[in-house]
Amino acid sequence: MRIVHSPLELQKLLREEQGSVGFVPTMGALHLGHRTLIDTAKKENDIVVVSIFVNPTQFLEGEDLDAYPRKEEADKKVCELSGVDYLFYPSADAMYGSDEVSLNAPSVRGYIMEGTSRPGHFSGVLTVVNKLLNIVTPTRAYFGKKDAQQLMLIETMVTNLFMNVEIVPMDTVREKDGLAMSSRNVYLSEQERTEALNIIKSLRIATQMVMRKECSTVEIQEAMLSILSPLQIEYVTIVNRQFQPIQKVEIGNTIILVEAISGTTRLLDNIWI
Ligand code: AMP
Repeated sequence: MRIVHSPLELQKLLREEQGSVGFVPTMGALHLGHRTLIDTAKKENDIVVVSIFVNPTQFLEGEDLDAYPRKEEADKKVCELSGVDYLFYPSADAMYGSDEVSLNAPSVRGYIMEGTSRPGHFSGVLTVVNKLLNIVTPTRAYFGKKDAQQLMLIETMVTNLFMNVEIVPMDTVREKDGLAMSSRNVYLSEQERTEALNIIKSLRIATQMVMRKECSTVEIQEAMLSILSPLQIEYVTIVNRQFQPIQKVEIGNTIILVEAISGTTRLLDNIWI
């Protein structure tokens, strides 16, 4: 595995490679969720590139940019053992100039749900993903459905900017008790972690209601909110795959999303129905 810090050097090295390139962008503190993306990229491509970059432009003032878990040595081992060919580990200065070009997230879909509590967050995400995709020019890039709104916005960017890459959505990997794996889970105390399980409980109740053909989104939201109540709820939203609000769950075209805060930790989860 080659560790590369410079965007221009990585571009040069990748130009010399033959075959398909699978790319997994991350912010590090790698867990089994990331590993699943990397393993799939490995199976489906000749070359695998992983990036680790805690992107400052997607953190708002007062958020956890400085505290975000960083595990450089462990992450390098994980990538090495997973058969990654190139680990891209840039500094913020290598990625951003002083008078920058940036992308704006769509004014509606980038500013609802997570975009309401974190205005501008998705502009930072799209800007960095755009830069990363331009550096790596992968055949396929792998993103988790756990960050459903992010995935939708990246798919929109790729379509609307006519970018030549296949975006591959990956299912959410969970702990045994159902908690969605996240680098931020290390912030949770034991009690906060137990409370956080209400998120998956609420999503399971929603699934059961749909299986009983109780498909009213208002009723599902009410049932979920009552289970989630010990947490600080940011939103419970039910949308179609185009992220438009719906009255009734349509099987095969629905996403139920939750964002809640346990202690001080923002937790996202969802199910695709
Ligand atoms: P992050 O390092 O949190 O920015 O995540 C990097 C990529 O891994 C993103 O595409 C995430 O959606 C994805 N990811 C994070 N957690 C999980 C998980 N539990 N299961 C599957 N993918 C995940």
